Order: sequence, then structure tokens, then C-alpha cells
Amino acid sequence: MTPRILLTMGRNTAHLHHGAPTPNACVEQAYLDAVLRAGGAPLGLAAGVAGAALDAALDAVHGVLLTGGGDVCPDFYGATAHPAAGGHLAARDATEIALARAALARGVPLLGVCRGIQLLNVALGGTLVQDIPTEWPSALPHRDPDPAGEARHVIDITPDSLLARVIGATALEVNSYHHQAIRDLAPGLVITARARDGVVEAVERPGAPLLAVQFHPEEAPDDPACRALFGWLVETASCPQGSITSAQGTSLGSGIG
Ligand code: MN
Repeated sequence: MTPRILLTMGRNTAHLHHGAPTPNACVEQAYLDAVLRAGGAPLGLAAGVAGAALDAALDAVHGVLLTGGGDVCPDFYGATAHPAAGGHLAARDATEIALARAALARGVPLLGVCRGIQLLNVALGGTLVQDIPTEWPSALPHRDPDPAGEARHVIDITPDSLLARVIGATALEVNSYHHQAIRDLAPGLVITARARDGVVEAVERPGAPLLAVQFHPEEAPDDPACRALFGWLVETASCPQGSITSAQGTSLGSGIG
């Protein structure tokens, strides 16, 4: 079977329709390509979907991918906006918070990327560093000041974590394109990777089909570790509920990528 994976979407306000700026639901192509490459069928979930429509969307899929995007509105974790924070879209936050909670409650496999790890933490009661350069000045560069550039750093991964098993390593050099990070960890989550400055780079929940990373695996399709994350999502989504362990074994045994 081909598992259907629900991808969360942002909103592009620069889109023009008959010459007038018109809100446009959007998701970066790289996420669609990553899911397709792993053997899944990507479906989009627009910002603002809620209630029975959100439940119906989740009924129709086997896995969830929380994609990257703008900063989560600090209202959702009881903070006031930092001047350097931006790209807030409360409708998207509300949709994704409800989606993440529902997916976890149902045991639907979930992968979070960049904003996705931050959103997941907020959805479960955690808080965020709103701007690493000003709030955590001793941290490594986690975003290149040149928009065309790419910061990179090493992460250390907890041995025997789901992340370590999926990628088959306990250290990895990753890309880095974020200025926010997890501050207070949500109850139930476990940190399974950090950069060497202490910035959280991965979380999971023991026993749950859940992985979230702060880097961008979709931007590194030639990196086997990055491909393995999408391979894990699609393979876990294709297995009946309750066979998480065997899904992991399959991921490693088949050498995803
Ligand atoms: Mn980073």
C-alpha cells in the first residue's frame, strides 16, 4: 500500500491573482518530493482547518508531517512577541496544534521539521527561545545571515533513541536554518539530540511513533540520514498500529535510500 501523508501548509501573501495580492495556501516542493521519494502519497492540510474537518483529514491519512515555516505565535505559549520574531500565522498554529495533539492521541506517526519541532513542543505545553542570536548570544550560528547561505553544525544524538536507530548514527553534521529553538521542554517529550552549544535539535516520545528535528532533512535529499527520516515516516505509516518496533527494524534492515 502507499501510505498517505498529511503535510501542513503555510500561506503565501505575495501571490497575485488578477494583479491583486491574494492569500495562497502553499508548501515547499522539497517536502512533497521527500515524501514521494520515500514511497508516500503527500496530501496538503491548509492553515485554518479545524474541528470536524480536521478530524476527517486525519481519518484519511496514515502519517503526518509538520513542515517548516514562520515563527509560532508566542500567545500560544504565554509569551509576548520578541522584536526579531515574525511570520506569525495564528490560523496555521491553531490547526497544527490541534493536528499534533490528535495525531499523538490516535498513535498516527508524526515527523516534525524545524518549525514542526517547535510547534510540537508548544502544542504539548512547552515554550520557545524566540530569537537565538539575542536571547542566547553564546550559541553557535544556527542561521546564516546571508539568506542564500547555509549554516551547518554537528549534533550529538542519544544512543538507542529512535533517531539514532533510524539514521544509524550518534553524531551527524546537519544544516541549520532557524532562529528559534525549544526553551522549556513539554511534558512527555524527551530530548534526543543537541548541537554542541546545547540547542535542542531533536525530540521524541518514548513508545510513540514520533520524531521531530530542528534541521531540514528535506533540503538534503542526497544525505542517507536525511532520507532515512522520511523513510521512517512512510514505513511506520504503512504498518498497522502497534508494530512500531517492527517498523523501525524494517527501516534499518532495508537501508532506506
Ligand atoms: Mn541548528
